[in-house]
Amino acid sequence: MKRLAAAELLACLLSLWGAWYHTPAGAIVRIASAHLFGFRTSARPLLAYYGAGVYGGRLAPAPPLPAPVPPAQALGYGAWAAAAQLDEGERAQFGAASPAQLAAQLRALSRSLGSDEAAVLALFCGEEPARYARDKEGSGASLEELARQLPPRYADRIGLASQALMLGSAYALGWPLPQSVRITSPFGVRAHPLLGGRKLHNGVDLGVPLGTLVRAAGEGVVRRASSDSLNGRTVVLDHGRGVATIYCHNEDLLVREGERVERGQPIARSGNSGRSTGPHLHYQLDLAGEPVDPLRYRADKPKVAALEAAD
Ligand SMILES: [Zn+2]
Repeated sequence: MKRLAAAELLACLLSLWGAWYHTPAGAIVRIASAHLFGFRTSARPLLAYYGAGVYGGRLAPAPPLPAPVPPAQALGYGAWAAAAQLDEGERAQFGAASPAQLAAQLRALSRSLGSDEAAVLALFCGEEPARYARDKEGSGASLEELARQLPPRYADRIGLASQALMLGSAYALGWPLPQSVRITSPFGVRAHPLLGGRKLHNGVDLGVPLGTLVRAAGEGVVRRASSDSLNGRTVVLDHGRGVATIYCHNEDLLVREGERVERGQPIARSGNSGRSTGPHLHYQLDLAGEPVDPLRYRADKPKVAALEAAD
């Protein structure tokens, strides 16, 4: 009888442990108690598995860029920006490497492990766990698939690895219009020109004449090519790894939903459609579904004109 009770107690404790670490409900309780008692939790990346994938989590502001990012080093910059969130002790253990050094390290890891996903995982979680996950899931596996092979204690580092990939893709993006085109309204909170009140302007407005070719900032898949009364004729490109770009107020669209586009490919002709006060392109960069200032990921920024036209 006593032995039965002990076994029941053990089973009960085991299921509590399982619920605490491996269910969304447990993750919510862990986040709540972490907030309450002020300690760090890995629950957020775990929660993300059930929602928007690994590319969730809180995004720290990217460090300012001293010079344009060479395309071959974009992933190194992503890892550098993600590692900037580690506390000092962890950063020392991680190595105070420059973006260029991290890029070289990642290239070597990618060659030996077969993918950038596994390379970034190796950089943040160690080569042995990354190799184990790669062997289980194959070299074509996504970070999310690889992450499933690692125990919960890696969740924080997996979160950083996902940010490194996402930020690396953001640093690799081009620009939808010639660099000489001026910004007529920057990203940020402003008084709305048409609706009144203070609102977040979730992209940048680029002042261009009607019919200017708008080009894809990076390769990707067209998730949306349609029109609505607010944004006008809009293209949404999904670049993978949690990165999307959005192009609003066009005159006409040159791509269809589901189509693959190359970087630099014309996707629309700019216009004045939707709720807009003059011809311009509204260009928006979303990371993990949240709009961010696209200029933060560019060193050579277009000039900001006197603020007038806007959406
Ligand atoms: Zn705008």
